[in-house]
Amino acid sequence: ALLITDECINCDVCEPECPNGAISMGAEFYQIDPNKCTECVGHYDEPQCQLLCPVSCIPFDPDWRETPEQLQAKYERLTAAK
Ligand code: SF4
Ligand code: SF4
Repeated sequence: ALLITDECINCDVCEPECPNGAISMGAEFYQIDPNKCTECVGHYDEPQCQLLCPVSCIPFDPDWRETPEQLQAKYERLTAAK
């Protein structure tokens, strides 16, 4: 999963672009629900939020690393739940 840091300027660019609806406004800045972030696996070749963020404040979460297989499985779980 990816993570939004406190450098976020709340520009609102990333939120509508997330194919999994994983991004929402938090207490002070935007946040990513790691249970919904597939790093865009299943939708795009690259993480869309990371590509679009004007201040580059969306790194990979070092505490939430996943293999491509795990991300694919999460994508399939999320899709099945719809
Ligand atoms: Fe959403 Fe993709 Fe960003 Fe994860 S990497 S929060 S799935 S846009
Ligand atoms: Fe924050 Fe970057 Fe998302 Fe803008 S695109 S709301 S700066 S995380």
